[in-house]
Amino acid sequence: MTDEFTTDIYYDDDADVSTLDDETVAVLGYGSQGHAHALNLHESGIDVVVGLREDSSSRSAAEADGLEVVTPVEAASRASVVSMLVPDTVQPHVYEQIQDELESGDTLQFAHGFNIHYNQIQPDEDIDVTMIAPKSPGHLVRRNYENGEGTPGLLAVYQDATGNATERALAYAKGIGCARAGVVETTFREETETDLFGEQAVLCGGIAELIKVGYETLVDAGYSEEMAYFECMNEMKLIVDLMYEGGLGAMWDSVSDTAEYGGLTRGDAVIDDHARENMEEVLEQVQNGEFATEWIAENQANRPVYTQLNQAEKDHEIEEVGERLRDLFAWADEDTETDDEDES
Ligand code: NAD
Ligand code: MG
Ligand code: MG
Ligand code: MG
Ligand code: MG
Repeated sequence: MTDEFTTDIYYDDDADVSTLDDETVAVLGYGSQGHAHALNLHESGIDVVVGLREDSSSRSAAEADGLEVVTPVEAASRASVVSMLVPDTVQPHVYEQIQDELESGDTLQFAHGFNIHYNQIQPDEDIDVTMIAPKSPGHLVRRNYENGEGTPGLLAVYQDATGNATERALAYAKGIGCARAGVVETTFREETETDLFGEQAVLCGGIAELIKVGYETLVDAGYSEEMAYFECMNEMKLIVDLMYEGGLGAMWDSVSDTAEYGGLTRGDAVIDDHARENMEEVLEQVQNGEFATEWIAENQANRPVYTQLNQAEKDHEIEEVGERLRDLFAWADEDTETDDEDES
């Protein structure tokens, strides 16, 4: 390992919001990322218009926040930068509606690479295609900006028709506050594949299974549901907070020597070579497009598997135990903003 990172990192000094003077940015969608990008850009002095369907329930929220809301088609026709912040599964459909509004030299901007990387959206060659992807849920992108802080983000250029795609994307990144924290250069392919792998194997899928299997192991052995919940679910946050602040070292330093020895000798017996091979297979299905094909077909079929698994997860005993316990203890009063924490 070298002491230099292999990627470029950009900060506020590398970006100039005035690059987008006299231009309009259309933010399509007003969910987790959409509301944060639209409000932050607006407060950075960039001309923003929000594009939402006539019957969108987000309309009143965007208008109450002082933003102008029009249809996606009108927003795209007025803008020279179109930021695609509707759900990934909806983007190809919205793109079909607005593609004729993209003129030569315009920018199509994303916060995740799925639809470009897996060819669900194939933009004309005369427009810039860029990505500024905050590595955080939208409500944090907004909260950090309001506090004068930044949120780390990724920058990628898929198509540079103008020759200024990077400069324009950096202006956008500065406008939403990412360049305050640092913007790391990557590619659509790398962002898409690492994001999908991470959420499947480690962050969302991996951690949820680790918690459930740990919980079930204790309960099946006769220990109480409450003890199993605290040990396997509740303490997870405390441990992860330490890692977030200071890496694995801060966590190992903070737990007892007994926990450290036990963890170091037993952890890799649980996440063993078999688990590693399974992770490699998950990565392969991301890389060869098998996962993308499956997820696109699942949506076309109205999500039968998703619906069933979503319900099964809600029905797991640990959820009911957790709800009961969180009601009984004080930590549950803390601000729990879960509605837009979709790790996507
Ligand atoms: P979201 O689900 O929070 O919000 C999407 C918004 O799109 C809705 O609020 C609504 O305003 C609009 N919308 C929904 N259905 C629509 C339809 N059928 N037609 C038109 N508009 C519709 O979405 P999000 O999580 O902000 O994701 C937006 C993009 O940001 C995605 O590409 C996602 O991968 C990316 N991203 C999300 C996060 C995250 O933490 N949420 C993080 C990084 C990148
Ligand atoms: Mg236009
Ligand atoms: Mg992610
Ligand atoms: Mg303990
Ligand atoms: Mg994701």
